[in-house]
Formats: sequence, C-alpha cells, structure tokens
Amino acid sequence: MKALLFLLALFALQMCTQINQPENTKVMQNTTENPYYSRTDRTKLTISNAEWKNILSPDLYAIAREADTERPFTGKYNEFDELGDYYCAVCGNHLFRSDSKFSSTCGWPSFFEADKEGVAYNRDSTHGMERIEVVCKRCDSHLGHVFNDGPPPTGMRYCMNSVSLEFVGDSQK
Ligand SMILES: [Zn+2]
Repeated sequence: MKALLFLLALFALQMCTQINQPENTKVMQNTTENPYYSRTDRTKLTISNAEWKNILSPDLYAIAREADTERPFTGKYNEFDELGDYYCAVCGNHLFRSDSKFSSTCGWPSFFEADKEGVAYNRDSTHGMERIEVVCKRCDSHLGHVFNDGPPPTGMRYCMNSVSLEFVGDSQK
C-alpha cells in the first residue's frame, strides 16, 4: 500500500513538472544545453555518440547519430516553403538555403543544392541499396541521402530528414 501511495505521489509530481515546462524547451536546449551548437563556428567536431546521447532529444539522436529515417510525409519541413536558411539541428552548421528547396513527392524535404561547406558524403550500402549518404561536415551527423533524379540546374535531389534540420526564417534574423 505504501509503495502504491509513493508511486501516486511520484506520478502527481511528474504531472506538475510537465505542466510547468516552458513551450520552447527545444529552442532552449539548442542554445543553452548543447555547448557545441553554433551557427557561425565551422570548426570540426569530434564528439562521441555517448556524449551526444546526453545532449540530443531521442528523436534527433536516432536519426542524426544512428542514421534512422523519419516516416515520410510526417516531417515539419516536408510541405514548407518559407524564405530562410536550414541549419544542422545537432550543431548549427549551415546546410541549405530555401531557394534550393523544391516540391518533391517523396515525402521528405528535398533540395537541389547544398552548402558545399556544410555537407559531406559517404557511400551507403545498407538495406540492400547503393546510396550516397549526406552528413553534416562539421559534426558528421546523418542528414539523409542524395540522388541524381532532381530538377535543374543541378539534377540532384537531397532527400533530408526534417528532424535533422533547423529552419531560421529571414524575418527572424
Ligand atoms: Zn552538424
């Protein structure tokens, strides 16, 4: 009986903590709790996954550090066409400009061009496919894949996970 009361009290306490949390927790996390986050510093980061796991949200960790993929048509930037820039959600590195984003039917935000200083490429032979993985050049986090069936002028299609991206609109700068 005592144990049950204790559990109930604990549950009530958790409810209170959840209610009191500010709505912009995620934004605060990037600026105050992630010491490596910077939109101006492009110095290469070599942080262990054990450390990233303590800093990043579970969703972001799974995609960025374990190359997981968000479900198609669920990402916040899939149908999104505001003017601005896309940064790495893990470290703040600049990755894409909105004018290279195009409407794709694949279910993930797609770009025909990336910031050359922002991304790097790896061969990916997993899941029985031969693909090119796109990673953040600064922190090596997984962003998505690039294919050669995109529109002009590059013919490339950078198929990205919304979770790995952070958008900053021109009006917010
Ligand atoms: Zn990064």
